[in-house]
Amino acid sequence: MQKLILLAAMLTTSVVVAEDRPNILFIMSDDHAAHAISAYGGRLAEIAPTPNIDRLAKEGALFTNAFCTNSICSPSRACVLTGQYNHVNGSFDLSGRVEAGDQMLALQMKKAGYQTAMIGKWHLKAEPADFDYYCVLPGQGKYHNPEFRVRGEKPWGKNLIKFENQHVTDAITDLTLDWLKEGWDQDQPFFLMHHYKAPHDYFDNAPRYETYLAGMDIPTPETLWNWGPKFGSIATRGADDELIPHIGTSIGSRNPRRSYLRDLPELYPDEFPPNYDPADYSDEENTRLAYNAYLRKFLRCVKGIDDNLGRLFGYLEDAGELDNTLIIYTADQGFMLGEHDYQDKRWMYEESQRMPFLVRYPKAIEAGQRFDTMIENVDYGPTMLDFAGAEIPESVQGRSFKWLLESGMEPQDWKQEAYYRYWMHMAHHDNPAHLGIRTKTHKLIYYYGCNYDGGYRTPPGWELYDLVNDPFETQNLYADPRHAELAAELKNRLAALRIRVGDDGGHFPACEAVVQEFWDYDESDRAKAREISRDYLQRRLSELDSGKRNVRTWAGE
Ligand code: CA
Repeated sequence: MQKLILLAAMLTTSVVVAEDRPNILFIMSDDHAAHAISAYGGRLAEIAPTPNIDRLAKEGALFTNAFCTNSICSPSRACVLTGQYNHVNGSFDLSGRVEAGDQMLALQMKKAGYQTAMIGKWHLKAEPADFDYYCVLPGQGKYHNPEFRVRGEKPWGKNLIKFENQHVTDAITDLTLDWLKEGWDQDQPFFLMHHYKAPHDYFDNAPRYETYLAGMDIPTPETLWNWGPKFGSIATRGADDELIPHIGTSIGSRNPRRSYLRDLPELYPDEFPPNYDPADYSDEENTRLAYNAYLRKFLRCVKGIDDNLGRLFGYLEDAGELDNTLIIYTADQGFMLGEHDYQDKRWMYEESQRMPFLVRYPKAIEAGQRFDTMIENVDYGPTMLDFAGAEIPESVQGRSFKWLLESGMEPQDWKQEAYYRYWMHMAHHDNPAHLGIRTKTHKLIYYYGCNYDGGYRTPPGWELYDLVNDPFETQNLYADPRHAELAAELKNRLAALRIRVGDDGGHFPACEAVVQEFWDYDESDRAKAREISRDYLQRRLSELDSGKRNVRTWAGE
């Protein structure tokens, strides 16, 4: 009763507030690459449409140049939450955590009078205590019969609620709907982070999608079959191509340590022929079988997300809140869907570095816009704070693009480049550590190839791609004399960019010494890279011989 009286007393103010400031619904799925969203077009758009996600683009804006700064789960989430790059927020890899008191977005939204909630996949280890409400998966969480951590009498992590006989995507949507119906006070606008676990590997859809795309041949990228002689560098291929089997986990049989051909027949036997034995098939047939199993399972998880978003948007519409809500859809990073025969993310290649980013808020954002403005995940937080009328703290490195969304025009002094750095050298998916710069037209990648302590060396190498003429990155132009000037210019810009974002090498000096050693990449550096390649091959072969399936050990993939 007391609450009702209070509500009545606040009614006039709250109406004004609701009109002035939108609710903010930030939807993030896990590993949902932009090229698996039909609004982005591409080879999957026709067979696996995502009409509910597409609606955001149709009635709002879509970004073609949205990028993560480190293509892996916890680090990307930390960038969104803090508005800082990983070398500043300290979440370099999957052990990354953001403590209560540092959960900037939640704190600033609350200060600005928002009711805050975090529902679904969190993956930042520490309690999301700066949110008014949370209900989050422990770590990666489970696809079926998921458990969630909530606030309660026991310490963080011990108060659990469990959903029996439910798929995690359905459960997360139910939790959000329950919170909107019962948890949200409605006398304040809400800031809600709604994070799906799907379609993270190993993909497991709700049973009702088992027939979706069943038996269908999924369109393949050209680069699944044919790398071409000019893709990659000594860093990804080794000297004389000797490391091709050992760098980057594969779809087909290329990587003997980890491939979908090795893992998926056991996980998804229904996706393979009865009594499947790879020995009965050609290499090409085996790769196609593994690819189809991979893509079908992945796209079934995506379908589950899209259907659930239809449910969520439908509820907001019926409740009269849809147009009062700024809705963002993104994923923590992209994903290699067989391009270059790669699985997973981590790479700076397009499919992995790009994030989907769609936003709808009809009161301020005109429908049907498509932007090629460079935005990074560190910019999402300040943009949402800007729409909320909240203060953007000095600690935030990203910048709001609210003005762009409202005016349709890129500010004249807007950044023209994105920074990238992947630190988890050769972990899980055999990707060497690298850093780089991406502009609207080009990409320069530097695989320095060592661990935090400068050890476990793989051959250093540089790659340069012309994204206008070669959007699928098949021709490394770094060593092409016709592009020497461009390579030098981008290298200078990369050095300046590192300084601007604060990745000055002070975090891991032994690693930085390697970065500097091969920066100019002169003849002696190139000779040394060949030596490192030879040494690494021997090391890898002996690791494989000794039966170490997971060569490197890291916590919680
Ligand atoms: Ca992820």
